[in-house]
Amino acid sequence: MRILIVSDIHANLVAFETVLRNAGDFDRIWCLGDIVGYGPEPNTCVEKLRAFDPICVAGNHDWAVLDKLDLEEFNPDARRAAIWTRDQLDVQNLDWLHSLPEQLPTQAERFTLTHGSPRYPIWEYVLTPAVARINFDFFDTHVCLIGHTHVPVLYRYHPDDHSATAETLPEDIPVTLESDRMMINPGSVGQPRDGDARAAFAILDLDEMMLTHHRVEYNIVATQLKMAEAKLPARLITRLSYGW
Ligand SMILES: [Zn+2]
Repeated sequence: MRILIVSDIHANLVAFETVLRNAGDFDRIWCLGDIVGYGPEPNTCVEKLRAFDPICVAGNHDWAVLDKLDLEEFNPDARRAAIWTRDQLDVQNLDWLHSLPEQLPTQAERFTLTHGSPRYPIWEYVLTPAVARINFDFFDTHVCLIGHTHVPVLYRYHPDDHSATAETLPEDIPVTLESDRMMINPGSVGQPRDGDARAAFAILDLDEMMLTHHRVEYNIVATQLKMAEAKLPARLITRLSYGW
């Protein structure tokens, strides 16, 4: 069974469709939240994703449009985009976002899916091995898949001294998941922040227990033009060119 893992699509339909076209065959989509927010096409992105009947958790930007968290927690650009997104989304798509859980164990308890961290699923950023180390105590499965930071990374747990280390997730090279417990962030489809503007995703081969991280170029300008048309904040438009 081949799983397409996506995170932080952020209403960037051009990026999402490019990922879908380049993912090859897959049996299921697992999505780690933040389907909307920032980008210009929230309805179409939710509809496209829903059509695949994905296994999906909620992110902080999904909650923001549902009034499930205080928009004061967001920076001004993100807040403006969240308010705009809320006005755009139709009832069915809002209902679907509302139905998303915060965290999911899946696939015979081998994987946990969450947006931020297993400890604080909606908000916590796992940006260091120290934070990852603490979070290994907050899930029981072999692997935890996370999003939220928009930065691809692999954290490996070492049971001998209870430490965690960070590794670069190599591009196009399969990583075996059989050995150690891990937390893995596949990167962001719609707003990468690791200095690489290409859309990020991962393919998980459940039979082989191998995960492969991929990057793909998409038509950034097409998304930026749609954002400008929607009068979304200029900084959010610019950052897509640079991946920050
Ligand atoms: Zn996000």
